[in-house]
Formats: sequence, C-alpha cells, structure tokens
Amino acid sequence: MTLFTYEEALEKLRKNLEAIEETEKVSLARAASRALAEDFFAEIPYPPFDNSAVDGYVLGNPLDGQTRWKVKRAIYAGETSSQEIEPGCALRIFTGAPVPAGAYAVVMQEDVEILGEEITLKKGIPPKGVNIRRKGDDFMKGTLLLHRGSELNAGALALVVSQNKTSIEVFRTPKIAIISTGNELVEAGRELPPGHIYDTNRIMLETLLKREGFDTVSVLLPDDEGEIVKFLQTFAGECDAILVTGGASVGEHDFLPKIVERMGEVIFHRVAIKPGKPILFGKIEGTPLFGLPGNPSSAFVCFEIFVREAILRVSGYKDVAPIWVKAKYFDEHSPHPRDEFISARCEYENGELVARKVREQGSFGLHALADANCLVRIPANCTHTPGDLHPVLLLR
Ligand code: AMP
Ligand code: MG
Repeated sequence: MTLFTYEEALEKLRKNLEAIEETEKVSLARAASRALAEDFFAEIPYPPFDNSAVDGYVLGNPLDGQTRWKVKRAIYAGETSSQEIEPGCALRIFTGAPVPAGAYAVVMQEDVEILGEEITLKKGIPPKGVNIRRKGDDFMKGTLLLHRGSELNAGALALVVSQNKTSIEVFRTPKIAIISTGNELVEAGRELPPGHIYDTNRIMLETLLKREGFDTVSVLLPDDEGEIVKFLQTFAGECDAILVTGGASVGEHDFLPKIVERMGEVIFHRVAIKPGKPILFGKIEGTPLFGLPGNPSSAFVCFEIFVREAILRVSGYKDVAPIWVKAKYFDEHSPHPRDEFISARCEYENGELVARKVREQGSFGLHALADANCLVRIPANCTHTPGDLHPVLLLR
C-alpha cells in the first residue's frame, strides 16, 4: 500500500473540512480565543479625537519671527473643553489630552526652556502637526478591522471594545469526541492486570483539545467492532469531530479503516511520517473523523501536525496552518524513508534557535512528550549533519 506524503495528506484534509454553521452572540468576557463569525467594521474612528502624543506644550500658529510663547493654561487628559488656541500662544498639554482647534503642533516638554510664564523652543519651530495624533490616524469609520474567522485574541478584543461593543458574534464552540480503543487499556484508578496498560491517550487528547477551548466527550472501549460502531454513530450525530485512538493500523483488531469505509468515507489512510504512519482521516455522516495510532507519541504528533489545524478549521478559524520556524538541530539522525518528527526542546542561544532531542524516544514512549517544547521535522531521506537547519513547530 503506498503512503501519502505529509503534504498530500494535508491538502486532502484542508479540502474536506468545513466550518460549523451555528454562531452565537457572547459577552466579551466570554469571547477570548473564540472565532469571530462576522466581518467587523469600524463605526467609530480611532483615535476618536485629535490628541497629544506627548507631555509638553501645544502651539498655536506661529507669528512671524516669534521666539517666545506665552503659556496660557493647561489641558489634561479627559478634558472636554473645545476652546480654540490663538496664533502665537502656547498651552501646557499632557499625553492623551484633546488638542484644541487651531493647534499648529505639540512640543515635548524636554524641548522647551521655561522663562516664567513663557517658553522658548530649544530646537526652533517644529514642522506642522508634530506630536498630534489625529482622529482616525489608526483607522477611519468603515475600515474592515477583523475578518470573519479571525481569532478574538487580546488585540482583537481591544479593537472590539474601541467600537463600544460589549458582545460579539462568534462561532459555536465545537464538541469533540475521543474514543480510546484497546482490550489492553485500563482506566486510571483501577488495578493494572497483567498485560494491560493505563489509557494515557484520552487525558492527553482532552488536554490538547481543552487548551484550544473545545468541549470534549470521551469513552474507553474494548476492541469490539459493535461497540465502536455504536459510539461512532452516537458521536457522529452529537459532535463536530471524532478522534479514535488505537485500531487504525493493519492488525487483526484494527477495525477502524473498515468501519469508516462502511459507515462513510476514508479520505486518507497511512501517511509517510514517523511516528504516526497508520493515521486515518475520513468522514461519517459528514462528521470528520481521525483514526490516530494508539502509541502515545504517534497520537501526540498526529494531533500537532493534523488534528489541531483540522478542528480549528471546523471551529470557523481561518489561517490556522501550523507555523514552522527553522532551528539548528544538533543530534545525530540517519536518513529515513518517512518524514520524521522528533520531540525536542528548542531554545534561543547566542542569537539563533537551537533544538535538541529531549531523550531517546520510541513511539510507545511517554517521557519525552512531557519535556518537549517543539517538534523537529526531518524530511524523508535527508542526510543530516548535526547543526543543520530543520523546520521546527513550537508546541503550545
Ligand atoms: P494500536 O494503534 O491499537 O495498534 O496500538 C498501538 C500501541 O499503542 C499498543 O502498544 C497499545 O497498547 C498502545 N495504546 C493504544 N491505545 C492506547 C491508549 N489509549 N493509551 C496508551 N497506549 C495506548
Ligand atoms: Mg489496539
């Protein structure tokens, strides 16, 4: 069976995902990190009025040959006075205070000499308009401030508030189902019978999903085709995406590919990556489904390089492709026919990004995952010399 390349698989993934349709209005206190469901335009220009950029003196239009300026009064931030400034006069002014009509420029207080009730300008008369932040300098009424599908991050919410809004339309939070499958799996809190291991994938995936603000529901199932089908049916109806771990490969108990084929469609299965080769992506009743390998490192890597982006797209976000930067990788690496993703720690050292493998890691391992802060991607068949640059995905 030929394997898809990572890029081929990503392309298929992106082509086959749609954002959920339902949106809701939420208060800004609940809007953090949600996906904006409308294009958001400015109704109020920003800044909303001409104001001073510095603490200093606002000048009226200079008179011919003028060297001394009489300081008449002070304007503080928050004042509403609309009195004009006369030519040849100066007013004391502070940052954010309204600049009066008729103003020529503002001079920083460090650039004046005070002579009783008058000032002189150490650097002479400045160009017109200096140190005045004009109404609408940042954006005018009608400007498209935020696109539908953008993340309501801190800056975005500040923009929204600048428009006197206390609530905003966002996409509904998606609900993601997690199904751990395996006869050998035991829930923590129970005694471990011989030949069994604790189900570590469920909490790992739940944590990754909750971190993005998604709701989750999860279940641990044996390798029982009937049980798996039953839960897939339920979750396909109730959830926006399904993650199954275990049983995605080609073993005798690996039912998932056949089940998905029967109940819906397999869009890709088996990708030339290490770890994570058995990954499957498909749909059941229109609900996206991932079959993730049961090995914890494999499930983790697949989440980072496929699943997060997919679910963010389902949530309504645009521009969610993972961002890879380059770092020098100092460990040894022998060429491998699949793209390899290594759990590593990345640091900024002497002006450059440097990544080092956290410890020896098998796809069954857990220890490396806890320490890693990035994944290093080494392309298939790459002849690597320690210190070569490779793409690195910083983990959240
Ligand atoms: P599978 O993908 O079902 O062939 O499982 C591959 C390996 O991952 C086996 O060694 C499983 O015991 C292990 N495994 C599967 N599911 C989990 C899980 N939920 N937590 C921890 N290990 C798992
Ligand atoms: Mg299994």
